[in-house]
Amino acid sequence: MSDYVLVINAGSSSLKYSLVDGVSGEAVASGLVERIGESQGHQVHRGPDGESNGELSIAMHEDALRAAIDAFGTYGPSLDDVDIAAVGHRVVHGGSRFAAPVLVDDALVAEVTDLVPLAPLHNPANLEGIEVARRLFPDLPHVAVFDTAFHQTLPPHAYTYAVPSEWLEEYGIRRYGFHGTSHAFVSGQAARLLGHDPADVNLIVLHLGNGCSATAVRGGESVDTSMGLTPLEGLVMGTRSGDLDPAIQTHLVRELGWSVDKIDHALNHDSGLKGLTGDNDFRELSRRQAAGDERAQLAFEVYCYRIKKYVGAYYAVLGRVDAIVFTAGVGEHSAEVRAASLQGLDRLGIQVDPDRNTAPSSTARSVSTDDSSVAVLVIPTNEEWQIARETLAVIRP
Ligand code: ADP
Repeated sequence: MSDYVLVINAGSSSLKYSLVDGVSGEAVASGLVERIGESQGHQVHRGPDGESNGELSIAMHEDALRAAIDAFGTYGPSLDDVDIAAVGHRVVHGGSRFAAPVLVDDALVAEVTDLVPLAPLHNPANLEGIEVARRLFPDLPHVAVFDTAFHQTLPPHAYTYAVPSEWLEEYGIRRYGFHGTSHAFVSGQAARLLGHDPADVNLIVLHLGNGCSATAVRGGESVDTSMGLTPLEGLVMGTRSGDLDPAIQTHLVRELGWSVDKIDHALNHDSGLKGLTGDNDFRELSRRQAAGDERAQLAFEVYCYRIKKYVGAYYAVLGRVDAIVFTAGVGEHSAEVRAASLQGLDRLGIQVDPDRNTAPSSTARSVSTDDSSVAVLVIPTNEEWQIARETLAVIRP
């Protein structure tokens, strides 16, 4: 029986896909269809014969998935020749209901629909991807893998906000956490690199991509995480503010007459690195910083200082930390961020080795000194493989 899983990540105007061997992790093909609903869409497909790019008009998610299937036919591998075991769907919000991936059926679709108020931008798009894929692949099992599931082990004192208790009981307002698929994958890889069972390892995992989050992992389980009810809380991100005094929002309403939508847009799309510098791409920020740009320098310092505060907080939460793990675009590539975020933490047993930290590499590795009692690891994340693995585990319990 084949181990191939078609992994689908449907966003509001894009559809990412990957055909992954869920056992080996090998991605035999992947692609992206973006600007769905706009007059001119764009498609990228990477297959065994290289990469193809195309401009085309894509009205709906169904057209996007059909375009992806066509690209498999044209640029390989043809889906007629691949025995796909299942389709794995990324679903952003599983609320308190889903602590594990679930086989998709009509009841599951209804439950994820009930969770739309918690993720009004993401869950409808994820559901659209599920519905379309079920129509186009009716004979395959479909599995929903939730971004929040890994964090369902948070204890009540970590997920409860200090607000009137009916906010939680009646409206579900609590910390859920996101990026769970990445934190789960990277935690497993870190334990392997350290040569221990995940159940014996305590980690602080820093996922630093466009979105950024920190997780405290005790014995393989998430015990605290920086994102909250939504992915806005916590670290400074590409376009999101992360932690704020919540009264800033009421101040903007009362003093400046701003609407809820305007504030929501500003905090999610015009804040973070972009808000501070005009650029949300970290490579551009680094280039400007190297050229002496003061705004870029301040943004870098704000970004790293926030990471350092979370490292300190989660060190206290865990008591004993075996490793601090950097992952995702910035975490994997920026030696400067790793060094600056952990600078001055020698007394906590955290020592980054400058040569190891700056040595070019794209594989999982340690960048701490031999004397560092806390290992500092860089581990490339692979959310598609994790989704494929979890999908296989559901269909072959
Ligand atoms: P996403 O969260 O969308 O999956 P990624 O994990 O790909 O994002 O991370 C995107 C971020 O990583 C961007 O800010 C990008 O500039 C940054 N990045 C990618 N490559 C590098 C690099 N070589 N050096 C520094 N930053 C990088």
